[in-house]
Amino acid sequence: MSRPRLLALLCLGLIAPAHASEPRPLAIAIHGGAGVIDPAKMTPAHAASYRAGLAAALDAGYAILERGGSSLDAVTAAVRTMEDDPQFNAGRGAVLNHDGDAELDAAIMDGHGPRAGAVAGVRHVKNPIELARLVMEKSPHVLLVAEGAEEFALEQGAVLVPREYFRTAARIRELEEARRRAGELKAAAPGPTGTVGAVALDRAGHLAAATSTGGLTDKHRGRVGDSPIVGAGTYADDDSCAVSGTGQGEFFIRQVVAYDICALVKYRRLTLAQAVRELIHEKLRRTGGEGGVIAVDRYGNIAMDFNSVGMFRGARDSRGRRDIAMYRDAQ
Ligand code: ASP
Repeated sequence: MSRPRLLALLCLGLIAPAHASEPRPLAIAIHGGAGVIDPAKMTPAHAASYRAGLAAALDAGYAILERGGSSLDAVTAAVRTMEDDPQFNAGRGAVLNHDGDAELDAAIMDGHGPRAGAVAGVRHVKNPIELARLVMEKSPHVLLVAEGAEEFALEQGAVLVPREYFRTAARIRELEEARRRAGELKAAAPGPTGTVGAVALDRAGHLAAATSTGGLTDKHRGRVGDSPIVGAGTYADDDSCAVSGTGQGEFFIRQVVAYDICALVKYRRLTLAQAVRELIHEKLRRTGGEGGVIAVDRYGNIAMDFNSVGMFRGARDSRGRRDIAMYRDAQ
């Protein structure tokens, strides 16, 4: 068949392109935070435990994609799994603010639409990612904060818990240590610790991103980071990519990191890896921002990059990839 005739038939939809019958790629990536633990202080037992926590979240999300579920359900399940795991800085085991309380932030974004929901500064919601999703699906709003968000949680029947549920012995020790250091070094900036996130591509070609965190240890009451800010720590658009970030949120907000990565893919036609590299190793680094992102594009390419000591992460796809890593050289 001549090339013009083939093109005409393709345009009219009378014949399908050769790849139409191939199954669409599935992909998921997760993170458990940047700069969590100095590699020199990481014991083999700790490393094994973090790896197991990451693997449980990764596989929970991928199982949903594999049985034809949505990317939205996959990222919700992956993030919820890490919120329930006290090793990570989200849900139970979240870091504590200066007053000794967990104030939790989360966002979810559906690249189909796109639609988004987020909550910030909640103190009694067991799984903030589920409340963020309720904001997206059951309210006309995008972001609810503090008491207003908790009233909405009550109305929607979300699971609420006493504040003590979030405060683990390890986080109380960390806060005491941070306060002691701040007393010695007045200008000490708190470092990023273990936020969680997930991005996924489903069989229908839809992208989704989700991020959940307790923010920074010893933060001021009322401080909100990048995770619940659409475009900063969380973003998804079916036409480009889905991104979840971790690191010093103030820098991610100022650079609108997650959106900027998708914009570079969409408007400057950079590959996902190039766009991520540009943000993490050029723009963010230039201003002194530390952290990393996980991202997936509409073709199922995954990028996970960071300029911090490490980023706890995992990736799985329908081409057979399944890996978990913590530091630079895929360990
Ligand atoms: N980005 C989070 C925040 O600033 C912290 C982190 O990723 O560990 O709230």
